[in-house]
Order: sequence, then C-alpha cells, then structure tokens
Amino acid sequence: ELADIGVLGLAVMGANLARNAARKGFGVAVFNRHGARTDELISQYGSEGRFHPAKEIADFVAAIARPRPIIIMVKAGKPVDEVIEELIPHLDEGDIIIDGGNSLFTDTNRRFHYLTEKKLRFIGMGVSGGEEGALEGPSMMPGGTLEAYSRIEPIVTKMAAQVDGEPCCTYIGTEGSGHFVKMVHNGIEYADMQLITEAYDLFKTVYGLDAKTISDIFAEWNKGELNSYLIEITAAVLAKVDSTGKPLVDSIVDEAEQKGTGRWTAQSALDLGIPLTSITEAVFARALSARRAGRAEAEKLLPHAPVAARKPSPADIEAIRQALFASKIIAYAQGFEQLSVASAQFGWKLKLDELATIWRGGCIIRARFLNRIREAYKAGGGASNLVLEDYFRDAVLKAEPAWREVVGLAVASGIPVPAFSSSLAYYDGLRRARGPANLLQGLRDYFGAHTYARLDKPGKFHTRWAQDGEEVQVSS
Ligand code: NDP
Repeated sequence: ELADIGVLGLAVMGANLARNAARKGFGVAVFNRHGARTDELISQYGSEGRFHPAKEIADFVAAIARPRPIIIMVKAGKPVDEVIEELIPHLDEGDIIIDGGNSLFTDTNRRFHYLTEKKLRFIGMGVSGGEEGALEGPSMMPGGTLEAYSRIEPIVTKMAAQVDGEPCCTYIGTEGSGHFVKMVHNGIEYADMQLITEAYDLFKTVYGLDAKTISDIFAEWNKGELNSYLIEITAAVLAKVDSTGKPLVDSIVDEAEQKGTGRWTAQSALDLGIPLTSITEAVFARALSARRAGRAEAEKLLPHAPVAARKPSPADIEAIRQALFASKIIAYAQGFEQLSVASAQFGWKLKLDELATIWRGGCIIRARFLNRIREAYKAGGGASNLVLEDYFRDAVLKAEPAWREVVGLAVASGIPVPAFSSSLAYYDGLRRARGPANLLQGLRDYFGAHTYARLDKPGKFHTRWAQDGEEVQVSS
C-alpha cells in the first residue's frame, strides 16, 4: 500500500509533522538527508502509525500515492532549493511539493512559478506552533493554487489543530501568500512578546516585584480578555525555579536572538508603506538587547537614575494590564493592515476573518482575542483599521488614561517601553485629522521644490523661497 503523503527533512519539525500525520491514520513516507534521523524516528515512534522509511530519494518518492504530496521541512533558504532540485527528476506531472518551513515569501513566489513551468505544483505552507504544535496539531497556512490545495486538504485539515470543530488550516491564496501570512503571524508574535516583556520590566524594575509575584499577576490576567498562550507561558516561565532554588528567569542572559521572520515583516512593511511600529520596535528591541557588552559599557558612562521602588496597588497593576491590552490591539491592527495592503498589492484576495480563525489554535499567538478580530472582519470589516471596529474602539478608549499613565511612568522612571509607547504614538497620530506634516511639506518644498497642496484651493504649489518668495501654482 502506498503512503498518503511524504515528509522530507526529519529534524524536530519534520519528525513531529510525520508523526502527527501517522497518528491521524495516514501512511507517511519519510526521508532525511542523513539517514540516522530516519532510523531514529522509526526506532522511537515507528509503532505510532504507518511509516514508509526510505534511504534513497527515489524510493521515498516511489512510496507515495500519485499525485504525490511531499512536505519538505528543511532549513529555510538554499537547502529548500537544493531539495527541490533533488526531487524534480523523480516526480511526475501534478505532484505537489509543500514547503512547510519558514521560507521568505519572495522565495516562495519564485519557486511557485518555477515549479508551475515544470508542470509540478508547489504549496508554500506556513506552519506555526513550534515542536508541540507540529506534533499535536499546528496552525497551517497553505498558499498555492486552490486545486493543489484541494488535493492535500483532507490530510492537512486533519493534521491541524481544531477549535470549536473548525480546523486551524484553510486555503490562503496563490503564490507565496501562505508564507507571507506566516511571516506576519511571527511579526505579531514578536510584538506580543515585546509587550509582555515591557510589562514584566515595569513590575520588576519600577515596582521591585519578584518573579513569583509577577507570575501570579500574569496567571490572573490569563483568566480575562488577555487570555492567550503567550500570557499563559509567561506565568509558567516566571514561576520556574531552577536547581539553585532561585527563579530561572533571573539567571537567563538578557540577550534576545532572532531567526529573521520579524525582521522580514518589518522590511515588508517599509516596502508597502505600512506604519508597522509595534512589530518593528520589537525587532529593534531584540537588536539592542543583543548588544550586551555595549550596554554594560554604556551603563558605566551613563549611570542609570535610580527609580522609585514601591509596591504597586491593584490599580497600578490594572493600569499596566490595560496598557498592554491597548498596545496589543494596535499591534494586531497594524499587522492586519499589512495583510490587507499586501493582499491588494499582490492580488492574493486574503480573507482576514479566516486568518484570525486559523490562528485561534495550534499557533504561538493563539488567543481568545482572535475571535473578536474574526467577528470584526466577518461582519464586513468595513473600517479601514481594526481599531475603528466597535469592540476594539471601546477597548482602546477605555484603556487610554491608564495607557498614558503607564507610558508616563516608564518615561519618568527611565524604563524603555518602545512597544507600549510607539503604539500610543501611533494611536495618537491615527486619530488626528490634522497633524504636523504641513511643516514637513513646507521644508521639502524649501530645499527640494517638492511642492505642496493647500487646504484652501486645489492644485500643487511651490514657493520660490530663495528668490522672490512668491508662490506659483505648479499643477491644477
Ligand atoms: P532545521 O531548520 O534545524 O533544519 C534541519 C533539517 O534540514 C534537517 O532535517 C537537515 O537534514 C535538513 N537540511 C539542511 N540542509 C539540507 C540540505 N542542503 N539538503 C537536505 N536537507 C537539509 O529544522 P527544524 O525542524 O527546526 O525546522 C524546519 C523548518 O521549519 C525551518 O524552516 C524552520 O524555520 C521551520 N519552523 C521551525 C519551527 C520550530 O519551532 N523549530 C516552527 C515553525 C517553523 P540533516 O539531518 O541531514 O542535516
């Protein structure tokens, strides 16, 4: 009997996806460049289902029922191209290569067109949920042609996490749209984590709370509108005591690493002209954190002003919760705007309510909150910005005084809160019909004759600043 699907690349993600498919009753052909990983998977988990291990790529391909769906789960970048080239000679027309790694969407666009020319089919599928998600049910974001997706739909919708009877997997759109959506998902994850870190810093540094006390606050927050996987695991990480008997978090080096998807999200936002401040600040915060030696040096030369440590009142804690929630709304509003603009620009027809739906389970940003986003977009999503939808509008208006208070406290205490404060700045900029860019336009016209529009009459104008100071109309 032939396998229903193949999985190539059996490091942690690939092995777990293969086990996931096998446990759901599918026959799974498995292959890895170095056969030791294949042996290990079979010896440890071979009894979980119907595996077809192969040591040669030809045998691997031959073991799968046609048209063959083959998930490749290898290191993003050049390895994906290498594996595709190795597979091509063994494939038949209509076979489907599914790249489940974190590939850059422009690479996926390229591979999609390349394989289409070869009469093969390509799906770029974002997979979120880390190790555990891959095994128990991830959130999956497959992009490619709809008919290629139809072939794999019965398999991937079964492998995905399920929420309220709905799979956390749906067809995203053509080309690299699945990887684009996964990229923005990861960007939002960066912002979510940065906001959590800033709240933690305020509790720890301004209010002098210990890790256990902060853990309890997060555990409490997880019962309310902030309920989410990241808030839940924040409580767990803060509560962990290591073998020295002290909180583990206090011994972890404060240097964040990154693999690239947050940076790509910010780069794409710059290309698309989206004010994606929260995610971008989160990327920058990681970059600054990574300069640990430089920070230690600067602290000597620029001594940190002491901050007043006093116990927070319940109202102080609630203010930080509200600031976090409002900032989170801004981060999601910005991320969804990026999805919406990219969809229009690239012709992908993304269904924003469905994206919120498949992020409710399996993935790292899963949260109760996503139901609200789904409802907002399902109801027509008329407003240009999520913040203007009733639920979110009410929430930010309610949180606004606390948000300002918390950002003010952080500034006065010398604690950086780039995601809290940039979200507030975005909010304040968004809701002003008239901002200060009139002066910018004046300056641009002064040094570069870039022209400006006037409020009181139509057309484009230029003032001859350095000559006679007269204004001339440049176009109607
Ligand atoms: P890695 O990214 O560490 O990649 C290791 C795998 O890639 C191994 O199977 C390795 O084979 C294979 N590989 C590397 N280079 C080549 C090559 N030139 N030819 C053939 N095979 C090659 O594995 P992960 O499981 O961590 O991640 C896989 C993908 O999933 C990545 O794109 C990652 O970004 C993405 N991802 C990871 C998540 C996570 O939590 N780890 C979450 C979501 C997505 P060999 O054993 O022979 O060296």
